[in-house]
Amino acid sequence: MATILGGIACSHTPTIGFAHDRHGADDPVWGPIFAAFAPVRRWLEDNQPDVAVVIYNDHVTSFFFDHYSAFALGIGEHFAVADEGGGPRDLPGVAGHPGLAAHIGESLVADEFDMAFFQDRPLDHGCFSPLSVLCGHEDGWPFPIVPLQVGVVQAPSPSARRCYRLGQALRRAVESYPADLKVVVIATGGLSHQVHGERAGFNNPDWDAEFLELIENDPVRLTEMTLAELATLGGFESAEVVMWLVMRGALSANVTARHQSYYLPSMTGIATLVLDSHGLPPKAAEAERHRARVAQQSRGLEKLEGTYPFTLERSVKSYRINKFLHGLVDPAFRARFRVDEAGLMRDHRLTDLECDLIQRRDWRALLHHGVIFFLLEKLAAVVGQSNLHVYAAMRGQSLSEFQKTRNAPGALYSVSGREQPPEPRG
Ligand code: FE
Repeated sequence: MATILGGIACSHTPTIGFAHDRHGADDPVWGPIFAAFAPVRRWLEDNQPDVAVVIYNDHVTSFFFDHYSAFALGIGEHFAVADEGGGPRDLPGVAGHPGLAAHIGESLVADEFDMAFFQDRPLDHGCFSPLSVLCGHEDGWPFPIVPLQVGVVQAPSPSARRCYRLGQALRRAVESYPADLKVVVIATGGLSHQVHGERAGFNNPDWDAEFLELIENDPVRLTEMTLAELATLGGFESAEVVMWLVMRGALSANVTARHQSYYLPSMTGIATLVLDSHGLPPKAAEAERHRARVAQQSRGLEKLEGTYPFTLERSVKSYRINKFLHGLVDPAFRARFRVDEAGLMRDHRLTDLECDLIQRRDWRALLHHGVIFFLLEKLAAVVGQSNLHVYAAMRGQSLSEFQKTRNAPGALYSVSGREQPPEPRG
């Protein structure tokens, strides 16, 4: 069974990355940052986690307001370093852990946190700024991560209490994962700072000290504070410290602080904190009961013949071909598809098998391969076949055989709009 070793919390200011990339540990101004992170780095080296759950927020880099969510879990196999305006930092991308991420996602939804899920999105300084000083990465990162993005930059955003409860649910999720993994929970953000408006430059080291005391010994007090109260005491953007409460909620009530530091070089109070968690793991039967609850909504689906739920596992495994077919909603993309199908598929690195399935319009095999039906119907619209062609093929019937089973036997329709589709082949 997976266990939570402990929690780490630290600021994620771009200055940390700047200090790492441009200055050394001997620099009098930036050196204290390295000194603050060194014991945390040692703790990670000593404890050798197998995977880290990293709770962070994106700064309008990979998550924009066309679709903004409160809690977004990264379920993909790999996360690149984001370009935040001047090119990505010279760091390797980091591996994800799709197996653990899918279990966490399913468990959180069962616990009534209706999560968003992402893959194929780069992570910005909210994650990589602290990560780059928390562990060596010359030959790649020492452990994969499961990123959990909290949407704190557009109001309304989740409250302190909601974040703490998410952390408690995260613990149930991790501790019911069947594989023996050592997991560390890392939260980033804060402490006191404000970066916008006439109040830009606001800091409050006294409140920061109090916050560090409360997060360790009395986190429930913090959950009773409103976002406005946090912003008043620590500056508007400091309310992102609610992410620390996700980490704290995932630990036992009793913790021991192994390390704590605070330094205010420029705009943001840079803090680091390492907490050992003292709780006992759940009994096997408790974990079993929780897993049964996680599976409750989908139990029985496996008995439905010819039915293929689009799960997180399926979404990750077949992401590339689904992304390719989703490209067909763009007029320029489908125009190229119509004149150079093979070249376009090659450019998008589809496998030989995937190219073959698309070229043969093998609707049933595409579905079995992991393509969701709603992209099959887009492909059908582009190539001039109706939905009925797809339904019939999936059932292993001819079009006329299938049409006989309908009350409107002559109906043929697709999701195609005004464009004149080409004549179907063959
Ligand atoms: Fe931030």
